[in-house]
Amino acid sequence: MMKRPLPSEWSGWLEQHVPFYPDLTGEVRERFLRYLRAFVWDKHFFGAGGLEITDEHRVVIAGAAVRLVLNLDLSFYDKLTEIIVYPDDYRHPDSDDVVLGEAQHWGTVVLSWSAVLHGMADRKDGHDTALHEFAHVLDVADGAFDGTPELHRFGDYRTWARVMSDAFLKLQDDVPRRKTVLREYGATNEAEFFAVASETFFEKPRQLRQNAPELYDELCRFYRVEP
Ligand SMILES: [Zn+2]
Repeated sequence: MMKRPLPSEWSGWLEQHVPFYPDLTGEVRERFLRYLRAFVWDKHFFGAGGLEITDEHRVVIAGAAVRLVLNLDLSFYDKLTEIIVYPDDYRHPDSDDVVLGEAQHWGTVVLSWSAVLHGMADRKDGHDTALHEFAHVLDVADGAFDGTPELHRFGDYRTWARVMSDAFLKLQDDVPRRKTVLREYGATNEAEFFAVASETFFEKPRQLRQNAPELYDELCRFYRVEP
């Protein structure tokens, strides 16, 4: 495949807004950029609430999406066709799914641009809106919005189910009693648990490994990465 140079604005936006981008090197960076181009090219981005979509929106949001599948496959996003972007927090970040839930087919992700930037700017607070919403897309890629994406091997489901369910129940139990590594929103249901655990996995890997080693291992196995 012929290598086209990356438009210089693109690398500027990535360096400015996508904090893990500068850490990517060699073959991984090449794959990231290949997926990024494909995602930007393939998905329809729409502005809402007065936001006019630019390549900067496309590139930064694609960066968040691609991060999750860097060691998987872009086909996890096959059913996702459109991304709607609002300028600001037009609602509480934790209620994002109210709007998302209306799009039953899950071909649509709705994001607030300011929340996307904020989530990426603080890379260690365990809260990343774009990552959260795209984790939901991975979850439903197999047709069920249940906190279990399509795993790599049939034999993986049993351990996954046990570990996820134990960790979910533990979070529900812990939330009223103590500070938790996972955001308490993860205690809402299994689907939110997977999305919140994914945020924590990428943003606070050390704490997660220390606090919930089995959960950490399952996410390593699924995402095929050790953050
Ligand atoms: Zn959610």
